[in-house]
Amino acid sequence: MAQVTCDTLTGDFLEAATHYLDLAAQQLGLEKDILKILKEPKRTLTVAVPIRLDNGKVEVFRGFRVQHSLALGPAKGGIRFHPDVNLEEVVALAMLMTWKCAVVDIPFGGAKGAVICNPKELTDAELERVTRRYISEISIIIGPEKDIPAPDVNTNPQVMAWVMDTFSMLSGFSVPSVVTGKPLEIGGSLGRSEATGRGVVFTIEDACARLKINLAAATAAVQGFGNVGYVSAKSLHDLGCRVVAVSDSRGGIYCEQGLNPEEVLAFKNKTGSVQDFPDARNISNEDLLLTECDILVPAALENQITAKNAPSVKARLIAEGANGPITAQADRILNERAITVIPDILANAGGVVVSYFEWVQGLQHFFWSGDEVNRQLRRRIIESFRRVWAIKEEHGVSLRLAAYMLALEKVATAMRLRGLYP
Ligand code: NAD
Repeated sequence: MAQVTCDTLTGDFLEAATHYLDLAAQQLGLEKDILKILKEPKRTLTVAVPIRLDNGKVEVFRGFRVQHSLALGPAKGGIRFHPDVNLEEVVALAMLMTWKCAVVDIPFGGAKGAVICNPKELTDAELERVTRRYISEISIIIGPEKDIPAPDVNTNPQVMAWVMDTFSMLSGFSVPSVVTGKPLEIGGSLGRSEATGRGVVFTIEDACARLKINLAAATAAVQGFGNVGYVSAKSLHDLGCRVVAVSDSRGGIYCEQGLNPEEVLAFKNKTGSVQDFPDARNISNEDLLLTECDILVPAALENQITAKNAPSVKARLIAEGANGPITAQADRILNERAITVIPDILANAGGVVVSYFEWVQGLQHFFWSGDEVNRQLRRRIIESFRRVWAIKEEHGVSLRLAAYMLALEKVATAMRLRGLYP
């Protein structure tokens, strides 16, 4: 196999996802045929989503559902509503889900879905119609044994409730296990909405112990103040870490003495943004990434740390709360600068772990306590972190490459055992 380098990469998200796959395959000496199969998504569905707007006019949105691999089990992955989302991005995100499920040892393959729309410009009724029509269009490939959606950027438990209801109406009976991230009242799991941020912080705790960073005396900056960013910031704050900067899509805030994430959230809920929070200074999102701190958690969107700003990042440890926030070139620069990066497929896997718990609970109609969910989540994340760290030490590779190696070996083993149909 030719030597894989990132010299010619353009910073494209799908290209980066494939690049890490190549690197891991090279390290493992993986068969070319398996690599060839894994570079292509198994199934890609593009659908038109026509809905009637509140003003009576018809608008047609475009939606996707991509299943990358089903080698380990039914596909699993979130649904994103975003004006800039495209098919390539969804393919890359579906691929990441395959590796993420494999890293944390849950029996799912990878998928992702999206609708190109701006939810901020839609009324609740319009958003409900977009969700219901999109789900009915992709209903031919989803289901509890086939592909189980979940929340992602701009989708939430209410959207998941509409997903569950639409699929149930099409089936003629209630099918709660078709989707995870549902409200508790209709079969959601305790601890699901906090799971991703909690998982991020479990990996940070373990990494800090190994890197001899005293978390109780450390400082952190968090980009994105949504589900993942807020819970990460709050969990870090609860552990005594000083959260000096946070941001949302409008910009960020900085306070050397540390911010209280709960107070910032209350302010954001009132005003629509974290900016202008009292006793803090407004900063840009670019400034946030370059904040003087020990720990950086990018928890917004992909391609935030690039070859341009990576040389100026000050943090010693980065945990990827978001999927793909660091480009491949930036990743190499950070490695060269000995900045430890906990990769997305490990750092933010807490969400899919508890989604798996929700699916299991739904199929068994037997629900666990919040303590049980968190105990099992912690155990799985920490076990996976230790396995990845051991591979990193054994092979002298980055944590990202080690995580990809663990995941790829697991998926490849399943493919070898199952054989190539027909
Ligand atoms: P969310 O919609 O709840 O929050 C996103 C946050 O990012 C918001 O605060 C938004 O204002 C902010 N944001 C958007 N654009 C920004 C920009 N350019 N700069 C700074 N901030 C910006 O979404 P989420 O569920 O928290 O997801 C965030 C990331 O985490 C995504 O990459 C998602 O794929 C990933 N992720 C989410 C989960 C989950 O369980 N929700 C699981 C794994 C990975």
